[in-house]
Amino acid sequence: MSFINENFLELQDSYLFSTIAKKVAKYTKENPDKKIIKLGIGDVTKPIVPACLEAMHKAVEEMGTAEEFKGYGPEQGYEFLRKAIVENDYKPRGIEIEQDEIFVSDGAKCDCGNIVDIFAQNNKVAITDPVYPVYLDTNIMSGRSITYLPVTEENNFIPELPKEKVDMIYLCFPNNPTGTVLKKQNLKKWVDYAKENQSIILYDAAYEAFITEEDIPHSIYEIEGARDVAIEFKSYSKTAGFTGVRCAYVVVPKSLKGYTKIKEEVSLNKLWNRRTCTKFNGVSYIVQKAAEATYSEEGKRQIKENIKSYLENARIIKQGLEEAQFTVYGGVNSPYIWLKVPEGMTSWEFFDKLLEEVNIVGTPGSGFGLHGEGYFRLTAFGTKENSMEAIERIKRFSNKLK
Ligand SMILES: *Cc1c(COP(=O)(O)O)cnc(C)c1O
Repeated sequence: MSFINENFLELQDSYLFSTIAKKVAKYTKENPDKKIIKLGIGDVTKPIVPACLEAMHKAVEEMGTAEEFKGYGPEQGYEFLRKAIVENDYKPRGIEIEQDEIFVSDGAKCDCGNIVDIFAQNNKVAITDPVYPVYLDTNIMSGRSITYLPVTEENNFIPELPKEKVDMIYLCFPNNPTGTVLKKQNLKKWVDYAKENQSIILYDAAYEAFITEEDIPHSIYEIEGARDVAIEFKSYSKTAGFTGVRCAYVVVPKSLKGYTKIKEEVSLNKLWNRRTCTKFNGVSYIVQKAAEATYSEEGKRQIKENIKSYLENARIIKQGLEEAQFTVYGGVNSPYIWLKVPEGMTSWEFFDKLLEEVNIVGTPGSGFGLHGEGYFRLTAFGTKENSMEAIERIKRFSNKLK
């Protein structure tokens, strides 16, 4: 008899995106002539930029020649990419990260989920609410107890330090779903807390490339002392439109320590390296070549253009909603706009209204956690035309939405 991991039975079924799809399908069937604008999904829409495409094509050709063919690569990633990461993502910000502190992977989602392998089950975990569900569900799967940190209008979307001691802390900034950011001084409080309590911060910086304002850290390692307390996740998914290509990396500094039951120090970098070599055989050479090309002059320029246009959509949506008298957060350093649903309505009631009155699809905030209730997420990953039209409709019929 094979017994199961019963922690899986503790997971809440996620009906969020399937419920949205069902509601939209039903409405479309009953109203076939209506043009629906989808501002719900958290996926990019712009194609891979030419610089990355070229690099991929070239790598594909190399794989077809006896001289250049590559079999298994290093589990941690090719040196050419790890070097480019150090030189481009960290050195220019004055951050000292070494190549063997970087582990290239097929996605930040897997990294955020897999990292729990190296931590004990009895660690207490703090997770913001609302939240990207991966942190929560992977910790439930491995049976850890969770402390929720509400992030709402009341605390200006700045998570407060927990009253009880926690050992692992998940932070994601710029945040998905709220689109809000932490200033250096606010992030420093968490780094100091982690130092004091010998906790580890798991910092998801997947949306770093969308930061436009000063004084917002692009990496947690900009904060003094963070090398001793933080693991950082980065991804090419939202930065370079790699959601379908799959490439990311995680930084595990060698100064980072975990503890055995008898309080002996152990290098987390060593554990993660061991875990990676045991369970992973590296990201495809072709994909790593594409990731390397994001750092070429051309690549950087082309990617910046794409991000600029997503941010322009975010600006249009945010400004339009404000003109329609909505309270809006995010959308400045992020492709996500987090709006407050009108007084007395739930997130799902607002979803229905938005779909039926103006034919726009967004994501109910309550789908991201208890404290997401009363909020609603729109994304800037659509086209400029659709973003503008969506705002036109919301403004024209704003009285029907409230
Ligand atoms: C999209 C996203 C990621 C990136 O995931 P990949 O697996 O690299 O595509 C990571 N964290 C958050 C919060 C995200 O929204």
